[in-house]
Amino acid sequence: MPAVPGAQVGGVLGIRTLADTEALGPRLADARQVVVIGAGFIGLEFAAVAAARGLAVQVLELGPRAMARAVSPHTSAVFEAAHRAAGVQLHLAEGVAELLGDEHGQVRAVRTASGRLLPADLVVYGIGVLPNDELARTAGLAVDNGVRVDGQLRSSDAAISAVGDLASFHSPWASAQQPWVRLESVQNAVDQAKLVAARLAGQPLPDYDALPWFWTDQGVLKLQIAGLSDPQDETVVLGDTLGSATAPAFSVLCLRGGRLAAV
Ligand SMILES: Cc1cc2nc3c(=O)[nH]c(=O)nc-3n(C[C@H](O)[C@H](O)[C@H](O)COP(=O)(O)OP(=O)(O)OC[C@H]3O[C@@H](n4cnc5c(N)ncnc54)[C@H](O)[C@@H]3O)c2cc1C
Repeated sequence: MPAVPGAQVGGVLGIRTLADTEALGPRLADARQVVVIGAGFIGLEFAAVAAARGLAVQVLELGPRAMARAVSPHTSAVFEAAHRAAGVQLHLAEGVAELLGDEHGQVRAVRTASGRLLPADLVVYGIGVLPNDELARTAGLAVDNGVRVDGQLRSSDAAISAVGDLASFHSPWASAQQPWVRLESVQNAVDQAKLVAARLAGQPLPDYDALPWFWTDQGVLKLQIAGLSDPQDETVVLGDTLGSATAPAFSVLCLRGGRLAAV
């Protein structure tokens, strides 16, 4: 939930749990004007669905480009163009100042940091998550943006392992500047769980080094990523980024120290 005045008004929803989506379904059926907070994977996937249903969709993103944490500027630009072509209004480098409610306590507008008033009868936010590390902290484990684990995914207490969204690990795929990562993906959760299960079953695997991969489907566009890119990477674009906004087909090679780090 964004920590802004008015965040408690009705019709302001996240997308994280089954209960969230069950609450969102009926709201979506009645909504006409949607404001999405956050142009990451989740916010943009929702924006594409809402726009395809004919709703007026506006997206607010604090950063200067869409999905900036995960993709190159080329990829951001192509996805931004495709969303705009689908009718989504993207407001980049724009934050939320306040959510305004009507006399029934339901959201009616979003005031942006620059003072614009965006009408809304539904606000959906996808602004990232914080690790649920309370239990680990209480147990005295080393915690720093997740539970710190070694190559075998053991925490600072060797009897306790951490996997998935909660685990902060030293990744051979990360940059030297930021070698500790915490990944939120099905691939990572499954591969880490397999490693710990194998170790507990007495058949340990080598230290965790699985290649991270991610995907996102947004309207007509499908993005697939292998590896971990870094803003400092040199990028080489192969294919057609500038063709039709509805059917670009390209790859971005992210090179670090002369080696391929991500595609
Ligand atoms: C809307 C959405 C879309 C996504 N789309 C994709 C996608 O397209 N591709 C992809 O790769 N990934 C996607 N992800 C991410 C993916 O779902 C997660 O990376 C994955 O579920 C992580 O698995 P996990 O087991 O680590 O954590 P979770 O799936 O979050 O499971 C952790 C469980 O532990 C429970 N729990 C927490 N604290 C405690 C406690 N103290 N005691 C007991 N139980 C506790 C939680 O309630 C939860 O049920 C998406 C996530 C969301 C929210």
